[in-house]
Amino acid sequence: MAEKGGISVQTEHIFPIIKRWLYSEKEIFLRELVSNACDAVAKLKHLVSIGEAQGIGDDFQITVKADKEKNTLTITDNGIGMTEEDVKKYINQIALSGALDFIQKYDNAETEKEANPDGIIGHFGLGFYSAFMVADEVEIQTKSFTGAPAVSWKCSDDGDYEMAEGARAERGTDIILHIAEEEKEYLDNNKLRSVLEKYCAFMATPIYLAEEKKEEDSGEQKPINDADPLWLKNPSQCTEEEYKEFYRKAFHDYKEPLFSIHINADYPLNFKGILYFPRISHEYETLEGQVKLFYNRVFVADNIKEIIPEYLLMLKGVVDCPELPLNVSRSSLQTNSYVAKVSAHITKKVCDKLNALFNTDREKYESFYEDLKTFVEYACLRERKFFEKVHGIALFKTVDGEYLTLRELLGEKADSEEEKKIYYTDDPTRQALYVNLFKKEGVKIVVLNSMIDTNFISLLEQEEKNLRFFRVDADSDAIKTDAKNAENENFQKLFQKVSGNEKLKVSVTELKDETVPAVLNLSEESRRFNDMMKMYARVSESMPGSPLSEESTLLLNRQNSLIHKIETLAEDAPETAETIAKQIYLLTLMGQRQLTADELSGFVSNSFGLLEKL
Ligand code: ADP
Repeated sequence: MAEKGGISVQTEHIFPIIKRWLYSEKEIFLRELVSNACDAVAKLKHLVSIGEAQGIGDDFQITVKADKEKNTLTITDNGIGMTEEDVKKYINQIALSGALDFIQKYDNAETEKEANPDGIIGHFGLGFYSAFMVADEVEIQTKSFTGAPAVSWKCSDDGDYEMAEGARAERGTDIILHIAEEEKEYLDNNKLRSVLEKYCAFMATPIYLAEEKKEEDSGEQKPINDADPLWLKNPSQCTEEEYKEFYRKAFHDYKEPLFSIHINADYPLNFKGILYFPRISHEYETLEGQVKLFYNRVFVADNIKEIIPEYLLMLKGVVDCPELPLNVSRSSLQTNSYVAKVSAHITKKVCDKLNALFNTDREKYESFYEDLKTFVEYACLRERKFFEKVHGIALFKTVDGEYLTLRELLGEKADSEEEKKIYYTDDPTRQALYVNLFKKEGVKIVVLNSMIDTNFISLLEQEEKNLRFFRVDADSDAIKTDAKNAENENFQKLFQKVSGNEKLKVSVTELKDETVPAVLNLSEESRRFNDMMKMYARVSESMPGSPLSEESTLLLNRQNSLIHKIETLAEDAPETAETIAKQIYLLTLMGQRQLTADELSGFVSNSFGLLEKL
């Protein structure tokens, strides 16, 4: 049966292309060969199950063994094996034409390769011949389960192969790679272990890394993989502890996740997975989760935006999509209908889970909310469907530590057509003066202190007619009586003078709390705009002075004795009136923001001036 041949003329250049291809992802050759070995076992198991193979036993396994002296890496399986005909058909023809197809696709994009992010995800499809990325010569020693004579096949990287009767005595296949000089790292067990753990951790047949010189060592070796991954089990048969254990193993995260969602879609949409809501230890972590994508248990890649909606990448999890067309370009995946359905299904499951938790265990939901908040708000901003299903259970934390939904905050106004105002603070300590005024009137104040909050409330305002959010220093309706505001030219002049701000508007009003002489109001719109500009300009957060623009209005409280005093002193002791006015103005300003250096020294000298007058 000895035969020689060449990988035909038209393919002359295939090996050099494979070889120089994909510097960063060479390691996928191991994934390809080990998954072929798994398939060989699966095929044999199938034949056993339908009675076409007998006396096979059930100790199926795959071994990966490096031999540094011989420079070989061998992948051994005891699967179906190949006859001479099989090798000719599957290796010399089918595998080769598969690799050729793949290279052609790749080659078309190759000119732009350096800058071309539009690659093929996980580089699926190259198959058996990917071995030539790391090997000068590849050997197959195989014996079919049918008992046909063993076959030996050898091919060097110039494309010539030799086939002869082989010496393998047992059923199965050895793929022997003669590792190229510059790829010696693939003879190192640590390297091999890490590649196997990355790509093969959940393949269906036990995979062993043959440890050199350790063979007589104690007891049984453990397989690298978990041949029975949790996501493939029926959710009703999985325990909480198993989900947590799986999370620890898959993500090496020892903080327990908040909860998990097991997706088990069978028909018509075939995909499975487990998503976890991670606990967040600091703010920035929230944006970077890890969703591992699998293709029939074979790891493809992390965080593939083309398949998993970007906002879901804040979660951690595994998603196994056996129907993904993986040997197509990334951009075409975005318009693929299977991908669209998978992502819609995941979104639905996540929304359902959040709603179920809210409805059945509010207390628990609230206790998780600090960790969920950024995700919920971001997802609402990014995905319409998510917003529709979840905005009603987004929670707002009040200064008193309650967590309330928008409807709960609005109370009976929720369904009315009237104007709906919600007051918030972004710094409860600094804005305590305002917060207390509102609290005295029984108004709930929510705490909104991140950039995403601002975007989220803007979205709610767009969606809900008549809804407006005001920072506590932006609107005083709730802390005023119904009496009309009045202009007063004298006060206007006086306060413009002591504030040094000639654009300051001054109005006389009636605050319900008569102990407070004045409050300073800043238009919500212009402040939000300023904040946004500041963020874009990356101006440091505390830029004292800057938020005060012409939109500020000083509301003087007609009910307050100090304001009366200023009025009466204005004629006889204008200086004292000014000192009091300045003190009131600066104290009011302090309730709103940090004073500038000038303002602060002005405040100190003004205070001493007042003490003098005692
Ligand atoms: P694919 O796995 O996508 O079919 P490959 O190029 O990896 O493509 O392999 C081509 C074929 O070679 C396989 O379909 C299989 O029939 C055969 N083959 C490869 N490796 C083995 C193996 N270890 N045991 C039995 N058959 C194998």
